[in-house]
Amino acid sequence: MKIICIGRNYADHIDELDNVRPDEPVIFIKPDTAIAQSNLPFFIPEFSNEVHHEVEVLVRINRIGKHIQTKFAHKYYDQIGLGIDFTARDVQQQLKSKGLPWEKAKAFDGSAFVGKWFDKSALGDLGKLLFSLHKNDVVVQEADTSLMLWSIDEIIAYVSQYFTLKIGDILFTGTPAGVSQVNKNDRLEGYLNGQKALSLIVK
Ligand code: MG
Repeated sequence: MKIICIGRNYADHIDELDNVRPDEPVIFIKPDTAIAQSNLPFFIPEFSNEVHHEVEVLVRINRIGKHIQTKFAHKYYDQIGLGIDFTARDVQQQLKSKGLPWEKAKAFDGSAFVGKWFDKSALGDLGKLLFSLHKNDVVVQEADTSLMLWSIDEIIAYVSQYFTLKIGDILFTGTPAGVSQVNKNDRLEGYLNGQKALSLIVK
């Protein structure tokens, strides 16, 4: 399986990193080895001094598909979750400044934390999902999916022009503002429509 991530999908996060609003979705991929074991802590990698949390709504693909039209995209997933796209921001800034790919900053082992899955039918309007991340009991990121530049269905249509989607693939749909550094012993908890969707300790 593969993990397809969207960058710069919330205007307020684009502004906080001084990035330019893209004309089309920014895409990158994490390998299956990036998936964190949800029962283990997140370990800060030795090569970075500045790892950030990026809480994101996740979509689990349940059908194989290519060149999917936006109007049919809803048939390709029935589970929604919450995850964290852990990002070695210092490494990413170096790579960005040289125009190089982001994989060392974004796709390292454990960089994709996947929380609990929910049936989409139980979540109501997917265009208005509320989600938040709490760090040591303080809300650091809070948004709803109406603030996405590209919706879940538009993302599926876009990425499936380039990559065949397969059962079990996971989409990370982008992070809103409020990203910040994680430190040893931080406790992160995520909520999706008020329900606890992820919990982890940083080591
Ligand atoms: Mg992200």
